[in-house]
Amino acid sequence: MIRINKPGAPKILRKRGAAETVNHCADFDASKHQYEGGTKTFDFNSGIYGAKSVKNALIKAQHKKCCFCESKVTHVAYGDVEHFRPKGGFRQLPDDELGRPGYYWLAYDWENLYFSCQLCNQRHKKNLFPLSNPTRRARSHHEDLSREQPEFIDPGKVDPGQFISFRKEYPYAIDNNTFGKTTISELGLDRKDLEEKRRDHLELLKAVDALAALDRPESDEARQLLQRHLSDKAEYSAMARAEFPNIGVET
Ligand SMILES: [Zn+2]
Repeated sequence: MIRINKPGAPKILRKRGAAETVNHCADFDASKHQYEGGTKTFDFNSGIYGAKSVKNALIKAQHKKCCFCESKVTHVAYGDVEHFRPKGGFRQLPDDELGRPGYYWLAYDWENLYFSCQLCNQRHKKNLFPLSNPTRRARSHHEDLSREQPEFIDPGKVDPGQFISFRKEYPYAIDNNTFGKTTISELGLDRKDLEEKRRDHLELLKAVDALAALDRPESDEARQLLQRHLSDKAEYSAMARAEFPNIGVET
């Protein structure tokens, strides 16, 4: 995971998304008990949060990579527009019953949206959204979100490199911090297939680094190549930065 810097919100979120949010909030106030009892659910408009302009803006800001595992997604899959705080319902723990409603007022909120691969989103994260203190969870648009301390690292708000680092292809939580630990385990950042992919990638980078250290005509090019692989644009750049801490990072 690396820090993600998004540009301003796409127009469809500012206009239609904002209008739809007002509707959802009014609807909640009018039928509070039905929503809280789970007998009524929101009819979210995926044509707004999943609009091409939204998805493309995220893909560009994230350099075509999943916000969590840093795999390049678009070459082999469509990828998902993912809600950091789940819109329809939430779980504190994977086996908990789904808590309703979810963060309905953030369904079209630009800060709440990311681009992710299907495995991170659909197999691992799903509706999971653990908080350090679940009694402080905001249960409606009337409550204060800033009282929440999510255990998942939000790459739009903080630098994930403060919490997660790598030993070779293996991610670990720095000083065993809760945010790094939960993010790695619950999002499956240590899943076997991903570690295999990072291992293959790291082997190549090490070969490039060995060439860069020599005094040969190709060595300059090797140094530049290595530097490119540490930049935000590169796949698994967080791992590469941990492996080569003395090389400057181009962002
Ligand atoms: Zn992913």
